[in-house]
Amino acid sequence: MAASDFSRLIAAAADTIAAHAEELTALDQAIGDGDHGLNMKRGFEAVRAEADAFAAKPLPEALKAVGTKLVMTVGGASGPLFGTLFMALGKDLPAAPDRNGLTVALGKAIEAVAARGKSQPGQKTMLDVLQPVYEALAQGRTATEIANAADKAAEATVPMKALRGRASFLGERSIGHMDAGARSTALLVRAVAETVEGI
Ligand code: ADP
Ligand code: MG
Repeated sequence: MAASDFSRLIAAAADTIAAHAEELTALDQAIGDGDHGLNMKRGFEAVRAEADAFAAKPLPEALKAVGTKLVMTVGGASGPLFGTLFMALGKDLPAAPDRNGLTVALGKAIEAVAARGKSQPGQKTMLDVLQPVYEALAQGRTATEIANAADKAAEATVPMKALRGRASFLGERSIGHMDAGARSTALLVRAVAETVEGI
């Protein structure tokens, strides 16, 4: 991937998180502690600040650098999990991945997040978006279809009962609200999908 394309990916991700920070805060206020919007914005602005340096690296190294920066800056439960996602992607992606390479790497990265979070899909977390995105990718869906699948998957967390993270402390009362991390994951997926489509 050209350095300019990686820079565009970072800008698109940071832009969407910044544009939706208040929405993410509101979602996390309903069933968490209300820090998810600021956590994500802080992290992605820190990544944006080093976008040029990261983009100059080979893709696997660039992704690892993004993941490391997110771990250091996002905080909360989601920081180490998003960090793990990007670091694991960097570990398993070839320098010039095709769709199959991307699918395999995303599958392994999801396993790494699940291991780190001691979690699995169905528990009202970011994994409930990541898993359907993996499946859509594996099925050869278009970028738009993948982004739409991510939105639908985030919506599908509304009726779920949280079994991991802060929202799980609410038990039944976590039902009826979208998971903040699922929403931020869907936003990132759309940003990446739309950017990749334009490359
Ligand atoms: P905190 O919960 O520490 O305040 P954030 O608000 O930044 O951290 O992130 C909360 C999000 O992190 C949740 O909405 C959920 O998607 C995700 N999350 C929390 N715990 C886990 C876990 N064990 N596995 C997967 N995702 C998790
Ligand atoms: Mg929170």
